[in-house]
Amino acid sequence: MEPFLRGQFGNPSGLYSIGREAQAAVDDARARVAGCLGARPSEVLFTSGGTESINTALVGMAYAMRRAGSGNHVITTAIEHHAGIHTAQYLEELGFEVTYLGCDTSGRVSVPEFAAALRPETVLASIMLANNEVGTVQPIEGIAAAIRDYATRRQHRVLLHTDAVQAPGWLKLAVNDLNVDALSLSSHKFGGPKGSGVLYLRRATPFRQLLHGGGQEMQKRAGTENVAGIVGTAAAFEVANGGIAERTTRVRALRDRLRDGILARVPEVLVNGCQENCVPNNLNISFAGIESDVLVAGMDARGVACSSGSACSNSTWEPSHVLMAMGVHIRQAVGSIRFSLGEDTTAEEIDSVLDILPGEVAKAREGSLALAHYEAD
Ligand code: PLP
Repeated sequence: MEPFLRGQFGNPSGLYSIGREAQAAVDDARARVAGCLGARPSEVLFTSGGTESINTALVGMAYAMRRAGSGNHVITTAIEHHAGIHTAQYLEELGFEVTYLGCDTSGRVSVPEFAAALRPETVLASIMLANNEVGTVQPIEGIAAAIRDYATRRQHRVLLHTDAVQAPGWLKLAVNDLNVDALSLSSHKFGGPKGSGVLYLRRATPFRQLLHGGGQEMQKRAGTENVAGIVGTAAAFEVANGGIAERTTRVRALRDRLRDGILARVPEVLVNGCQENCVPNNLNISFAGIESDVLVAGMDARGVACSSGSACSNSTWEPSHVLMAMGVHIRQAVGSIRFSLGEDTTAEEIDSVLDILPGEVAKAREGSLALAHYEAD
C-alpha cells in the first residue's frame, strides 16, 4: 500500500502515466481477488467495506429484479449483521415484502424452512455465511440448492447474496461451490485496511448501481478508487486465503483453551452458539448477574479488548438480536461477552485473560443491577 500513500497519487482514470500505473495496480488487485474467489476479474467490485457491499447488493439486485417484473419479495434472516437487517428494513420502506427467517439454538438457519419461504414473487435471498456474534456457519450450499430446485420447478429466478465478511481466513470462498450470485467482504476482517471491501457480483446478474457518477468499477460503483485500500485488500486476501486448515486448527485449540479455562474458573457461565459448525475465532459467553459493558470496561482497564453482545442506550439494555433469535434468555443475553481470536493470538495471551477474568467478573457482579442466576430460569 505504501507507494500509493506516500507519493504515487495518480488517479486510475487519468490517461497520464501515473494514472495508468494506478489503474494497473487496481487491475492487478482485481485479478488477485478474483483468483481467490474462483471468479472472473470483471465480477469483482471494490467498495468502501462490508456495509457498502451489502447495501449495494441488496438494493441493486432487488430493485433490478422488481423493475424486470419478477416480483417484490426478499428472504433474509433475523441474525444478519445490522448492515443486512437495516438494508432489508429499507427495502420494506421501498415497498418490498421481507421474510426474516429465525434460527435454531445454535444460530443455524434451516434449509427446509428457507425452501418453504420461497414464493413466486421472491426475487432475492440474503443469508450470511458466518455470524459475527456467535460464529455459526450457515448452510449456504443447501440454500443455493433449494433455490435451484425452486427455479427449475417454477421457472422463476431467485438471486442469492451472502454476507461472507466473517469467513476469510477460516473458510474457503469459492463462489461457484457456494453457488451465490453475490458475496460481500470487508478487508479489515482479514488483515486488510479499514474502509475497504469487495462485492462479488456474478456476470449478467440483474443489478442497478447504488452509487451514481463516473464510470468506475465497470459502471457499477461510481467514484475515484481507493487505490491503496484496493492494493492492501488484494494482498491481505491472498494471505488469508492460504493456510486455512492449519490456521483453523491452531486457533480452534486456543479458543477451546479459553472456553474450558473460563468454565473451570468462573461460576455461572454459559457458552452461546455451537462450537463445531462455526468459524473458530469466536467465543461468545454469558456471565450471570452482570451487564456486559461493565465487564468489557473492566477487562479493557486490564489491557484486554473484548466486545459486549449488548448495547446500553437510554439506560435500557438492548440485548443482542442474534442471541434473542437463538432463544437465549434476556438475562443471559445482557451478560454476554465476545472474545475474538486472531491469527497472532498466543497461548500466553489466553492464559493471561484467564488470570484476569475471574477477578473482573467478580467485581462486575458486585456492582451489578442484573440479579440473574441462571438456575432460577
Ligand atoms: N457483516 C458482518 C458479518 C460484519 O461482521 C460486519 C462488520 O463487523 C459488517 C457486515 C460490516 O462491515 P464494515 O464495518 O466493513 O462495513
